[in-house]
Amino acid sequence: MNSKLLESVASKFGTPVYVYDEAKIISQYNRLKNAFGSQEVKLHYAMKALSNINVLKTLKNQGAGLDAVSIEEVHLGLRAGFEASEIMYTPNGVAFSEIEEAVALGVIINIDNLSVLEHFGMVFGSLVPVCIRLNPHIMAGGHANISVGHIDSKFGISIHQLRHIQRIVDHYKLHIVGLHMHTGSDIVDADVFLQGADLLYEAATHFPELEFMDFGSGFKVAYKEGDFVTPIEEIGLKIGESFKNFCKEYGRELELWFEPGKFLVSESGVLLVSVNVVKQTTSTVFLGVNSGQNHLIRPMFYNAYHRIENISNPKGHKKLYSVVGYICETDTFGYDRPISEAKVGDSLAIYNTGAYGFSMSNQYNSRLRPAEVYVRDGNAFLIRERESLEDIIRNEIDLSKSTTAATQIHEDE
Ligand SMILES: *Cc1c(COP(=O)(O)O)cnc(C)c1O
Repeated sequence: MNSKLLESVASKFGTPVYVYDEAKIISQYNRLKNAFGSQEVKLHYAMKALSNINVLKTLKNQGAGLDAVSIEEVHLGLRAGFEASEIMYTPNGVAFSEIEEAVALGVIINIDNLSVLEHFGMVFGSLVPVCIRLNPHIMAGGHANISVGHIDSKFGISIHQLRHIQRIVDHYKLHIVGLHMHTGSDIVDADVFLQGADLLYEAATHFPELEFMDFGSGFKVAYKEGDFVTPIEEIGLKIGESFKNFCKEYGRELELWFEPGKFLVSESGVLLVSVNVVKQTTSTVFLGVNSGQNHLIRPMFYNAYHRIENISNPKGHKKLYSVVGYICETDTFGYDRPISEAKVGDSLAIYNTGAYGFSMSNQYNSRLRPAEVYVRDGNAFLIRERESLEDIIRNEIDLSKSTTAATQIHEDE
């Protein structure tokens, strides 16, 4: 999507607006799919990255399944047309009733807690196949908040508790169809994956009924030039080969699964915002824009870098600016960035915001969430209306106007 196209999206749909390039999502899907050579892989899209129904349908048409981390995501996946059997449900810390609901819906259940596994065994025994999420304790990931495989992580059942898992599996005759690991985001080293894979291969020898192995995700994309990225083709070749060898030893062909989120949708997305104010201070020049951490929290939450360009003046003279949002908190999109000279009303593009952009947005400061636009075959389609004030107060109850009877609560009871 070039500046001209983005500029016309900004003028047609207004800002702030998220724009997603469908072709980029499809090309990332195919790149990952093809990275494993002759080894077939099944990709379950981690929909928490970006869950607009149109994006889900694009990936469904490509042959993807879904990775859902809440029962709400499971329902959205089913509404988007995925078969229950194509949805992997990987919850953490949810009520058991939510797992029962997922079983009733027929999705694949992934369990990451010994006591939940035991409860599952008591209720379902061998009747419902189940996958186990192991924590191999390999240290991966960039920012501490997105590294989930380490020893203190709340995710997964420790690989050191295999014997305990086996006791539960034997006692309740559990039908274990898959082993899973997800070591966290931003893996920059093929060997990290291989280490984790080796641990899973070893664990697999204890589970004779496996149908698949799921190696999660953590594929890093470049946010700025020179960024280290996950070497997909190298990982693909190495994992593909090691998986084939494993299947030989295991004695049966298993399916190889991954759950990419960021890799598939990050680069497809751009957040378009407008310059509200240009503010010269003693130390810097701020561009204040009509958006903030309420729409894109990654810079403030993960210290993430997102490239920013002035698409209204793409060939202009570069000046150093700090781009800040309008939220009453420290709210910076980028410090000291070389950006083409900007004036009030110019549109800025914040790149690589397809993943964890809109999906982590909120209404802080009673600000409206942005619209979403999909670019397909060179045409732009509105795929989510901009919110209105009504959306913010929709569920609020004004007691001075309410006719509902009070719920009596007595402090002395
Ligand atoms: C978030 C998540 C993913 C996707 O991670 P990305 O870094 O976006 O690729 C995959 N699997 C599970 C279980 C997750 O929670």
